Amino acid sequence: MNLAIVLAGLVIVPSLDADRDIESDVLGRANRVAMTVVLQRALADVRRESTALQADLAAGADPGPALTRLQSARAIVRNQLAFLPSRNEAGVKALRQYIEDGDAQLEALLQPPLDAARAEQAARLGAALDDRAGRQLSMLMERDNAEGLRDTSAEFTRLHRRLGIALGAVLGALLLSVTLSVFAYRRVLRPLGSVTGSLNAVLTGRQPNSNMIETADEFGDIVRAMRRIQAQAEHIRRIAYLDPGSGLPNRNSLDAELREVRRLRPIDGTHGLLLIGVDTYVAIRSGFGTRLAEAAMRTAGERLRNLDVLPTQTFRVDAETIALLIDRGSTEAVTRVDLKRIAAEALLRLAQPVEVDEQRFLLTANAGGAVYPDDARDPEEYVNVCLEALRLARSEGAGHLRFGERGHTHRLRRHLALTEQIRSGLRQGQFVPFFQPIVDVARRKVVGAETLTRWRQPDGRVTLPSEFIFVAEGSDLIADMTRAVLARACTTFRNWNDRGYELRVSFNLSAKLLSANVLDIVREALKESSINPAHLIAEVTETALVGNVDDVSLVLDDLRNLGVTLSLDDFGTGYSSLTHLYRFDVGGLKIDPVLTRAAAQNRRVQEIIRSLVQLTSALDITLISEGVETEDDMRLMQKLGVRLMQGFHFSRAMPEEQFLDWLRNYEAGILAA
Ligand code: C2E
Ligand code: CA
Ligand code: CA
Repeated sequence: MNLAIVLAGLVIVPSLDADRDIESDVLGRANRVAMTVVLQRALADVRRESTALQADLAAGADPGPALTRLQSARAIVRNQLAFLPSRNEAGVKALRQYIEDGDAQLEALLQPPLDAARAEQAARLGAALDDRAGRQLSMLMERDNAEGLRDTSAEFTRLHRRLGIALGAVLGALLLSVTLSVFAYRRVLRPLGSVTGSLNAVLTGRQPNSNMIETADEFGDIVRAMRRIQAQAEHIRRIAYLDPGSGLPNRNSLDAELREVRRLRPIDGTHGLLLIGVDTYVAIRSGFGTRLAEAAMRTAGERLRNLDVLPTQTFRVDAETIALLIDRGSTEAVTRVDLKRIAAEALLRLAQPVEVDEQRFLLTANAGGAVYPDDARDPEEYVNVCLEALRLARSEGAGHLRFGERGHTHRLRRHLALTEQIRSGLRQGQFVPFFQPIVDVARRKVVGAETLTRWRQPDGRVTLPSEFIFVAEGSDLIADMTRAVLARACTTFRNWNDRGYELRVSFNLSAKLLSANVLDIVREALKESSINPAHLIAEVTETALVGNVDDVSLVLDDLRNLGVTLSLDDFGTGYSSLTHLYRFDVGGLKIDPVLTRAAAQNRRVQEIIRSLVQLTSALDITLISEGVETEDDMRLMQKLGVRLMQGFHFSRAMPEEQFLDWLRNYEAGILAA
């Protein structure tokens, strides 16, 4: 910092041409002052050490150390004599002569054998030298300064005003060159150090120096400015560490607290962390606005204070999450049993209705907990472990508590790493459509294909969707992936149909995408490939349809309006319900492989499939059985009346370049299937 100011001073000042002379003059004078001060100090040292030498000899002590110190003080004196410049050359010359003579006499006196009498003489000589030469030096310096000042004071004042803070910097520069001098230390370096130290403290968020010296000069100005900055920094710090909505300390505050606890007790002693996730927060916010939601969180925060006999601090770590840090100090450990008790109490208190603005809300919540250092090695992992535990608790419904373990964060990290790999894979076009044919067995004809995404990595590895779809669905990546793969699939189909085929293409539409942006994705793909929308089928699982029924049907309506057909995927697992068939006006139904396989042993399943055939044909819905793996599977499905099939018995999903060859072979009867 000092150096920076010095450099700033040295850059700013010379650029002001008019002030160059003043600068060199000021520099020269400061230098002379410094040299003089050093010489004065060395003379004072000669006096002190010669007296010490005398005292040691008189007391019969070893005079060695004092003698050594005296000799080095003398060496400094002789050295400094060479740098004794002054405007008053005659005066300097006389003074130099006086000091040299005195030093020569000392030299003679200090020759061995040294006795008490000579030591006494030396002490007297040292005192005289210091008195007279020191006084002489002060006079020279004052006269020098007076003359110099008279010459430059007018310009100096101007410089002073014009340069403002740069002047401080120049002084910093000047006086850094004379760091040795006490003068510089007291007047400049100490205040400067205190100011820069405080500035650094403010910048790095520590508590700044409270006893900065307020002088009347530029440093005083800086100090006063610093105090204002300090006050602002305090204010900012308060904002940075407090959650305005609930008035609770926030996540920054929790992090700081955890670092502090770790600093105080790096190894022994445990403490516990509970994250309480208020699930209803988001619902209240979207239904009644932020103000009410915040008021509800404020109430929640109040209820979570003083939960237990154990000392507990409360934080709001994000919009819907309140953290409880339970710390017994280093004397006793906090255990999972403690956390269980506290979490139960917390969830119970939150379950009481909250009243805000005459509205009554029920807050449902979950808790994730961990104990430190058993469950986490560092504060960051500690919080992550709790977050992951909270996520698990939430997946079980309301009012659950789960504990986190180190493994959780490993999984979380792997998940994050995979997300990044997928992101970069997407950028590099590594996600491509493979195509699994759908055949009309009786006519031995390929009617279309399902698009199945494959991750082709540069090393040749091909990864299946089970490894990456759920990760992509956990972020916005699923949209990019669907966009890329669908666009490519549509273009490929366009090329095939241009060669005279009449194929339809289906793609898998993630439940996560049943929002407005899927329309853009599909519209874009249709536009770029200019395929007939009637050739495009969107496969949606039934799970995607339950839940947010109203929103979903709007999006599906829009898709249908684009001319796209909807197909119900994985029928026979999960939420199978025939109501979906008419409610969402689907054009296709895909029997899940589980059902296809079960049919072989189970007559009732066979009856279900037979009635599905009748139902779909009456409703004009296309029925496809998936997972046809063997000749027997195929024959059974045929017997039950299913015409369209998909499965390993015909082909696995293949890259686009193999598809047409396969198709020709199949249709020509060359393939066994
Ligand atoms: P899905 O939609 O049910 O796709 C059919 C899956 O069954 C495919 O697995 C296919 O390779 C496999 N399969 C086909 N024939 C047989 C058979 O005879 N026996 C057996 N046991 N399996 C067969 P894949 O390609 O691993 O895809 C798995 C799932 O990943 C798909 O299930 C689909 O839900 C999802 N998926 C694939 N691509 C995408 C995509 O681009 N977006 C989305 N959201 N999901 C996709
Ligand atoms: Ca599918
Ligand atoms: Ca399926």
